[in-house]
Amino acid sequence: MFVLILGAPGSGKGTQGKILAERLAVPKITTGDLLRAAMKEGTPLGLEAKKFYDDGKLVPDSIILGMIKEQLDRPEAKNGAILDGFPRTAAQAELVDKTLGQRGQRLNHILLLDVTEDELVRRMSARAQVEGRADDAPEAIATRLQVYQRDTAPLIAHYAQRGIVHRVPGTGTVDQIAGDIKRIIGR
Ligand code: ADP
Repeated sequence: MFVLILGAPGSGKGTQGKILAERLAVPKITTGDLLRAAMKEGTPLGLEAKKFYDDGKLVPDSIILGMIKEQLDRPEAKNGAILDGFPRTAAQAELVDKTLGQRGQRLNHILLLDVTEDELVRRMSARAQVEGRADDAPEAIATRLQVYQRDTAPLIAHYAQRGIVHRVPGTGTVDQIAGDIKRIIGR
């Protein structure tokens, strides 16, 4: 089963994705984590990505598309995966559809974590104190929210046409939200 967790920055995609991946025993593929690892290691890809990442901008598709393809093609993801943090652009969505389609697979569920903008800003600012992520600085947070609305939110309509989008209220406790997700996907 392939499940995409979609939501604004700070909506809890990573937390819920991890719970779901463990329950379904499939890998969670997280482009943000892959980028952070590449930046930490200082690889050429990481250094290039950092120019965009720190400001809260999307890392260009020229970098991300190859990363997505490589991850989806890993043997561990043969029968399913939780997609966290991608697709974030139309080109990424096309690549995911095409890669899975060639294997006779498709995205089964899109979970849309719904959190108000005030709460998103509050969570990311709180996280900045703990984790010190460069893109949790106030200006980068504002950019990330704008980029989400402009580039990523339109994907919801694309998937809604297929009837696979489920809206999940993202403001309860972690357990409540995980329970909602379990009910929605039926396992
Ligand atoms: P959040 O959802 O809170 O913004 P992520 O870890 O998913 O956290 O993303 C952090 C940053 O990583 C983004 O602002 C962007 O710079 C980069 N990034 C992650 N995934 C992608 C992607 N699929 N396409 C482009 N950039 C990405």
